[in-house]
Amino acid sequence: MIKIEVDQSICCGSKMCVTLAPEAFVLLDAGMAGTLPHAADSPFDLLLKAAKSCPTQCIALFRDDEEIKLY
Ligand code: SF4
Repeated sequence: MIKIEVDQSICCGSKMCVTLAPEAFVLLDAGMAGTLPHAADSPFDLLLKAAKSCPTQCIALFRDDEEIKLY
């Protein structure tokens, strides 16, 4: 099972994740990204691309509670 976390304390609101995986991420009113309810159902390659493209590296992906190494 995939789990997605966004460390909003370092999100800069670039919206890169929303552009790459719009079914998983949303830009909140506060100007930082959050995840949508069915984010984990998004194609894994898009989640991976979004996480790797995040300029502040604040997206973490987990499979079965184990963090996936992105870099
Ligand atoms: S790509 Fe990263 S920094 Fe940009 S909005 Fe998404 S989570 Fe925030």
